[in-house]
Amino acid sequence: GDPQDYPQQLWTKIFSVAVDTPLRRCFDYLAPIEADGAQLVRLEAGTRVRVPFGRQQLTGIIVSIKDQSDVSDHKLKRILKILDPLPVFDAQLRGLLNWAASYYHAPLGEVMATALPKALRGSATLQTSISGWALTEAGRITLQNGALRRAPAQAALLAALTAGPRALKSTASLRSLREKGWVEVCELLSHPELAASELSTAGAPSDGIPSDDTPADITEKCAGPILSVEQVDAVDRIVQHPPGFTPWLLQGVTGSGKTEVYLQLAEVNLAANRQVLVLVPEIGLTPQLVARFTQRFGAERLAVMHSGLSDAARLAAFRDAFFDRARIVLGTRSAIFAPLSALGVIIVDEEHDASYKQQEGVRYSARDLALVRAQLAKIPIVLGSATPSFESLHNVARGRYQHLSLPRRAGGAQAPTLRLLDLRQEKVTAGLATTSLQAIDRHLREGGQVLLYINRRGYAPTLACTACGWIATCQQCDARLTVHRQADALRCHHCAAERSLPRQCPTCGHGLRTVGQGTERVEESLVELFPASQVARLDRDVVRHARDWQNTLSRIRGGQARILVGTQMLAKGHDFPELTLVVVINTDQGLFSNDFRAAERLAQTLVQVAGRAGRAQKPGEVLIQTDYPEHPLLRGLLDGGYEAFAAAALQERREAAWPPFSHLAALRASALDLERAIEFLQEARALAQRAAPKSLRLLGPAPAPMARRANRYHAQLLLEAPERGALQHLLGPWIEAVDMLPSAKRLRWSLDVDPIDLF
Ligand code: ADP
Ligand code: ZN
Ligand code: ZN
Repeated sequence: GDPQDYPQQLWTKIFSVAVDTPLRRCFDYLAPIEADGAQLVRLEAGTRVRVPFGRQQLTGIIVSIKDQSDVSDHKLKRILKILDPLPVFDAQLRGLLNWAASYYHAPLGEVMATALPKALRGSATLQTSISGWALTEAGRITLQNGALRRAPAQAALLAALTAGPRALKSTASLRSLREKGWVEVCELLSHPELAASELSTAGAPSDGIPSDDTPADITEKCAGPILSVEQVDAVDRIVQHPPGFTPWLLQGVTGSGKTEVYLQLAEVNLAANRQVLVLVPEIGLTPQLVARFTQRFGAERLAVMHSGLSDAARLAAFRDAFFDRARIVLGTRSAIFAPLSALGVIIVDEEHDASYKQQEGVRYSARDLALVRAQLAKIPIVLGSATPSFESLHNVARGRYQHLSLPRRAGGAQAPTLRLLDLRQEKVTAGLATTSLQAIDRHLREGGQVLLYINRRGYAPTLACTACGWIATCQQCDARLTVHRQADALRCHHCAAERSLPRQCPTCGHGLRTVGQGTERVEESLVELFPASQVARLDRDVVRHARDWQNTLSRIRGGQARILVGTQMLAKGHDFPELTLVVVINTDQGLFSNDFRAAERLAQTLVQVAGRAGRAQKPGEVLIQTDYPEHPLLRGLLDGGYEAFAAAALQERREAAWPPFSHLAALRASALDLERAIEFLQEARALAQRAAPKSLRLLGPAPAPMARRANRYHAQLLLEAPERGALQHLLGPWIEAVDMLPSAKRLRWSLDVDPIDLF
């Protein structure tokens, strides 16, 4: 419209917009010339707009509305278009996004883009057209001439559409009416608010429309088992706690029924008309959890968000959450940004899992952001794990988290027995000790399933010449190439390099041999040794899609596959009731690492893998193969269990002043030559030294142990402070100064606050 029609004060307002650029600031714009008055009035913070940016047009988010700009009037550009009629981020989410931008020192526009599905980072609209059903002329006549007296259900359906098209769930009756030509599908370009209210009543039994497809969430809903005393206690304590922000650590051994507690909490919240956010580490790998929530609550009320979805599916899930159609959002880390306006509880399953930390772009921890979000929403948050992170255990010790424990397995299952196998005392065939092979044989004969865990995929990690000592290495990385026999290839696990498998030594022409083993090789020898039992291998080479994963899982659960060989993928959250034996093939890499978190990771993995054994009625046995059966870490874990182990390891962390007794930030750089990366980090270090409080420790710069990856050299500078505040205080101005360094323009660098992988 006409500028004269605009409400006067808005016409002169300045809109500060965050756009997805590396620049750490927002940009000012004037109101769009094309907007009509009504649109303009609704132009609030959190609204998506299209703006001119240099020679491009970008999508941005209005961050604030103000009276004046530092940019002079004639230089200010106008917003080109208002993309949605209402803000995509409500005040609470804006609070979370602002917090994330300031804590992780990331540009707000970048954080906001991270929080949106890809389609909404462009100019797609939030508003959605939904399909509906309309009466045709033939239908109207049929209804009027009373031809349907004998078919009251059909008549009622047609009558429900006489007032105009409606959004109804597609049912068999509607489809058959369409075949008769009495109704047709149409597009309802709905207003968002309208879409929400329309759909919430669509297909519900209360609207008087008969439905033959009874919604799954009414009849097929499973009630779930009767909760144990501990489970009831956990649910009660959370539910009966005074309202407000309360973090709970739900520590329950694997199979203790944590998921049942989540389901109960969800139920209570749904009944109170509140929404539930459930974060899981890797959803593609946990179809069982999705299945359990679907069974309990029906697919209608559930939105699933993860990286395996198509862009369209992600947008659909986002819209479902935004318009309140979804009452439960189940997703991986980015689901922490799901637009939920009536959140009642957040659940973070397997809270210790490293995949909650984003390792590129905005390096946020979804677990930590979940705590911030719960605080902003003033709601409880439940962190669940059999092996809580040391951070969370420490927070319990300091009284910051409430502790709940489920010490027993549900349904009367026994805890498995763990035993160390001394590889030095054993005859070893293809990585498997004789004792392990005997145990496998015994468990198979007794009708059990067995799982072999090895954290390395491929056939063998090394290919070497039998004569001259040549070893196959990657030309772009400081790494050996892994032999993949089935693919007949040598592959680098650190870059995309791949070559065909040579038959003889490229330098001297002699024969080649493989050294060590990965999943493929273990699979091969098991097929040979136990020809009567089907072997299923699970690693990223065989399981590329959720579909493959589902297939293999059903082969395992159906009992066809008796021997399972796999990587971490097998260790997480699966419930295989027939599984009675777990063999951990190689533990030792985790025992000797520079990373102060290695011990914690190893213990978590061992406990999680061990937890796969004996989940139902059959008792479980766990064999851990090692060359170091006397290693204090292994001994501590076996003798005292995870908690005793964690207490001892936390004491060591305290003495060495590692997190959670200090706080870290890593400045990482990569360049085409190592000197350039190191020089940049040295300049950055000098800047920090000038500004730093005395308590700050600067470690490095140092090259990564595997410095060259994909032909780039990686190095790191570590900042460590006893107080989070002191570190944060330094980081803001420091990172701005680093940004200004001329050397910063000549390489790639990133800041990682609370890094979890140190090299
Ligand atoms: P977790 O999430 O702690 O690993 P789950 O909730 O998956 O544990 O429970 C493990 C198994 O025990 C599942 O098969 C679940 O259905 C069953 N289960 C959980 N709670 C109970 C209960 N109170 N009574 C009987 N079975 C239960
Ligand atoms: Zn050779
Ligand atoms: Zn490589």
